[in-house]
Amino acid sequence: MSGRAGEIAPIILSSRSLGCDVAKDVTPPATLNGLSLPNRLTSITTPHGNLELPGFLPDATRGVIRTLDANDAKACGVESLMVNTLHLSMSPGTTVIRDVGGIHTFTGFSGPIVSDSGGFQVYSLAAGGAKGVTISPSGVSFKMQGQKKRLLTPEKCIQYQVQLGTDILFALDDCPQDGAGADALAASVDRTLAWGEACREAFDRTMSDRADRPLLFAVVQGGFDLDQRKRCVDGLLEIGFDGFGFGGWPIADDGTLVDEVGAVAEMLPDDLPLHGLGIGKPDNLVEAFRSGFDTFDCTIPTRDARRGRLYVDDGSSPGSFRYVRIEREAFARDQGPIEDGCDCPCCSTYSRSYLQHLFKIGETAGHRLATMHNLRYYSRLIERLRSTSS
Ligand SMILES: [Zn+2]
Repeated sequence: MSGRAGEIAPIILSSRSLGCDVAKDVTPPATLNGLSLPNRLTSITTPHGNLELPGFLPDATRGVIRTLDANDAKACGVESLMVNTLHLSMSPGTTVIRDVGGIHTFTGFSGPIVSDSGGFQVYSLAAGGAKGVTISPSGVSFKMQGQKKRLLTPEKCIQYQVQLGTDILFALDDCPQDGAGADALAASVDRTLAWGEACREAFDRTMSDRADRPLLFAVVQGGFDLDQRKRCVDGLLEIGFDGFGFGGWPIADDGTLVDEVGAVAEMLPDDLPLHGLGIGKPDNLVEAFRSGFDTFDCTIPTRDARRGRLYVDDGSSPGSFRYVRIEREAFARDQGPIEDGCDCPCCSTYSRSYLQHLFKIGETAGHRLATMHNLRYYSRLIERLRSTSS
């Protein structure tokens, strides 16, 4: 790692005993189901407090975890959020959020907030057949339904995130389409490096007089080509970032993580935070954590909750779970909680019978309570991983 990140951002790599900004556990490796875990980072200091590691960040894409407010999130153990720059730039607009005090004031959420660059959403549009998405050296142009054509450049990507006032920003990257060939993967890495450098420069210019600087992460692309992944890692390390994310689709057809997830973790220094974008289901999260990933975000637990798929620990290894499908008729007279022993606001007060009723009548309170349970399941899983790795 070059010294650049250490010079320009409040991130110092050292042991927890020194109370530094990125803390690393120096106790002997712990085990998780018999697997030895490496010494792990235990927290990242941000302008809005420590992001304890490992950490799961629910997706608050449009500035809200769907059906929950900030108090609800806190009540089920949510410590940090992931918001989406592209969506917030369209509504209400990042200048609006800046003018009303920033994303923390706007949402009422006081903990660390991370912003995705928005690039992945543009590529998702392209993958979904949206017309008018074009990539050029200067950035990516696109047109959302009902909106005028826009160009997302590295500089705008940083500008939007600075206006949001998030604690960890992501540099714009070029996510290759599924099935991209060798030339396309190489071009994707080239653009990711060029845009990464442009983002780094824009970030440094903007933050030159800021004492409470946020952190800047970059995304490692390269698809299934490990040589390209390595080239991307080396280039991004040379530019200098405070942490990294795994880019591209992380889940294989059989539901496990693709091999590149672990391979990228091995390519990176273990004293820099590593984020699993879009990871994932509880078992995927644990698998990525074992590989060296520190933070995760995913829409799965909240989306599953609204669809009546509730997580229950199956009592074996961390991340091993089964669903309670709350709309099944068998729960109509079930007076028990979703999960015995769960201390979430739903399980503490309400029965499966009542929750099923709320779902059947389409009551949004049911979605809210189910979401709180699933997020509490994740926060309990994270607590379990923290205790295992400390
Ligand atoms: Zn619960």
